[in-house]
Amino acid sequence: MAALLIKNGRVIDPASKHDAVADVLLEDGVVRGVGANLSKAGAEIFDATGLVVAPGFMDMHVHLREPGFEHAETIETGSRAAAAGGFTSVCPMPNTLPVNDNATVTSYIVDKARTEAIVNVFPIGAITKGSLGEELASIGSMKAAGAVAISDDGRPVMNARVMRRAMECARSFEIPVINHCEDLHLSADGDMHEGLQSVRLGLRGIPGCSEDVMVARDLLLAAMTGARYHVAHISSRHSVEMVAAAKARGLAVTAEATPHHLAMADADVRPYDSNYKMKPPLRARCDVSAVARGIVSGAIDAIATDHAPHPGSEKMQEFEKCPFGILGLETAIGIALEYLVHAGLIDVARMVELFTIAPARILNVSRGTLEAGVAGDVTLFSVGREWTYDVNKSASKSRNSPFDGHKFRGGPVATVVAGRVVWRAG
Ligand SMILES: [Zn+2]
Repeated sequence: MAALLIKNGRVIDPASKHDAVADVLLEDGVVRGVGANLSKAGAEIFDATGLVVAPGFMDMHVHLREPGFEHAETIETGSRAAAAGGFTSVCPMPNTLPVNDNATVTSYIVDKARTEAIVNVFPIGAITKGSLGEELASIGSMKAAGAVAISDDGRPVMNARVMRRAMECARSFEIPVINHCEDLHLSADGDMHEGLQSVRLGLRGIPGCSEDVMVARDLLLAAMTGARYHVAHISSRHSVEMVAAAKARGLAVTAEATPHHLAMADADVRPYDSNYKMKPPLRARCDVSAVARGIVSGAIDAIATDHAPHPGSEKMQEFEKCPFGILGLETAIGIALEYLVHAGLIDVARMVELFTIAPARILNVSRGTLEAGVAGDVTLFSVGREWTYDVNKSASKSRNSPFDGHKFRGGPVATVVAGRVVWRAG
């Protein structure tokens, strides 16, 4: 198999605390070494001068819509969007049709990804059958088939007793439980964050406490069961505080934040524009800054996009009728640079950590580092190159992004999976 030599980039590998200009040699699909002036006869050379060379980015929360909703996205198109966003691994949530709640569906996704995806796909299995929140799914056999976590994402597990059993079961199978934290009674079919803006726009509000009460409940259950517990798309200041307190007590608790919850608040929601409709909703300014502070302090471990493609026919309905969710894969690096790095909150190495070794450790997959012998997945990005996002050129099948036309400073430049360049910027 051919070798790939990435020369003269700023190699940042938080797992091994490496941050210096160096070369990276990939051969036979794995990392052979990182060092100065590496050479290899016959290797393809990639000149990375001026670029950051990082372990392959992992997005631990995406929706690939296959099986069942292939009009919105497929494993193939979603993987292309991932590569174009600098991601080498993605973890699709189980809210497909059928729901990924048993080993047959998990195997289907794994097999399909093997033949059609250009990045790695690590599926997440359901917590309950049909994600209906009642009976536990086949957790052990899904793990054996390749599931790296369980979640009913899109739906919260409303019944605390079911969540307790799920955590006990997950603990014995050594798999993390990821919850979409939302008390549906408090959300009460709301469309956006409950606040001044929801009143102004005449839209039904989802209060911040609809997230907080479930995070609080789950943290108590995690303490009781000893399960590894992860909060998906954390968005409220009280939730961030509670996760920080749980960590301080030594619980095996982690959390992720999405780029859009760092970039926008409820006040930014444009009237009639369903590209601002997602769950959790864009929160108040104080929540946005609390999420950013959580990333700085380490209360929040990872950035995950919640990439949620919906076709125009669905998103073009009235705000109240259209589904929740926006695209995320292609704009994640640009947003993280803008709102965290260029904003002076974190350095580039911390940003790389949030996208690499942090999610890899949460999911216990051997990725997220450039140590010799691991899979040859590499993300190359620029910190300063200006570009404009054009959603009509997206590799995704869908177009639902509020960042269309946004000018970014820095973004993905090339994506390498198993030693092969699978995507390169225009
Ligand atoms: Zn969710």
